[in-house]
Amino acid sequence: MKTCILVINCGSSSLKFAVIDALTRQAHLTGLAERLNDASASLTFRQGETRDTRPLEDGTHAGALHALIGLLEQAGLLPQIAAIGHRVVHGGEHFQASVLIDEAVIAQIEKCAKLAPLHNPAHLIGIRTALECFPGLPQAATFDTAFHQTMPEHAYYYAVPMALYREHGVRRYGFHGTSYRYVSQEAARILDKPPQEASFVCAHLGNGASVAAIRQGKSVDTTMGLTPLEGLVMGTRSGDVDPGLFGHLANECGMTAQEINDLLNKRSGLLGLSGLSSDCRELEQAAAEGHEGARIALEKFCYRLAKHLAGQLVAAGPIDALLFTGGIGENSAWVRARAVAWLEHFGFRVDASANAVCVRGQGGFIHAEGSTPILVINTNEELMIALDAAALAGVL
Ligand code: ADP
Repeated sequence: MKTCILVINCGSSSLKFAVIDALTRQAHLTGLAERLNDASASLTFRQGETRDTRPLEDGTHAGALHALIGLLEQAGLLPQIAAIGHRVVHGGEHFQASVLIDEAVIAQIEKCAKLAPLHNPAHLIGIRTALECFPGLPQAATFDTAFHQTMPEHAYYYAVPMALYREHGVRRYGFHGTSYRYVSQEAARILDKPPQEASFVCAHLGNGASVAAIRQGKSVDTTMGLTPLEGLVMGTRSGDVDPGLFGHLANECGMTAQEINDLLNKRSGLLGLSGLSSDCRELEQAAAEGHEGARIALEKFCYRLAKHLAGQLVAAGPIDALLFTGGIGENSAWVRARAVAWLEHFGFRVDASANAVCVRGQGGFIHAEGSTPILVINTNEELMIALDAAALAGVL
């Protein structure tokens, strides 16, 4: 029986992929085609101990997929592929779960492109190209927004005229849903509880970062909103600002909507505050060497994180554990300790030595005795996408 799933995450200039055996949950091949549509387009992959980068002769998305097919053939994996799972950022209100892709699904993803103009069109290129390259295989879409479709209306409305919601879909959607679904299921398994009975506040801290409240297995609130800009301080995104800032920048600095968007999405956050880097690890090192901007950026990051963790406790109700995941959440003992230090009067305390151990793929409990449990879990969105595609295609 074929049990391998090809997972594709297609961006405007990149295509990430993984071949995962849905039965054993092992990744046989992972990789990335990058700088697509540029002369320097290349394909990097890892298979077991082998790691290689090759230039792409045809640097289009189709070229990258054809090169990937070559790679799969060479690795003997092509005949094992039973289905394809695509990551899609925005499913709007239409998708509450992963679905098999057909023309109607493609049309809906197109419709949601207004809400994610940078992401959904790129995903559609990946989906269309994969349909051409693998005509016989079932293909599924997994949406970052889907898990948050259980949010109640008091969490997802903005306090703006309702016509904006009805006519333009202006509401909070939330992102990182696939990661939250995986991490909360894993945490429930570790705590030996049925997922539908387990409640968590979870911080997904990568280049993009958010916090979510999961009440008895369901997302009930999260910090990202209409777009991934809302909420926490991120690598290059500002997160929350006074909405009055937009008018202020337009009036005082003559900035256009596009310029303000770029400023808040690409030049703010850790990068903007530090004036040095968007990368948490680099900033930790710089701060340790006395860089003032790095210190301020990291302090602001942790303080905002703590405030949002506390805010999500309102939505989650009594929790089984506080969860950390994503590149920073899984690796930065300093950020975890600093954020949790703000939450001591909420009943959370980190154990310094347990916290120090949870880095580079090592997960586990990091709370001190008497604290509400705090757990570091390595996320695996690709596995979740593969398992969804396998279930929908009837592979498992
Ligand atoms: P993405 O959101 O792009 O998937 P990741 O989840 O890989 O990003 O997270 C990237 C972030 O994780 C970067 O800010 C990086 O510096 C941070 N990170 C990775 N390892 C460490 C570490 N050992 N200490 C501190 N931060 C780390």
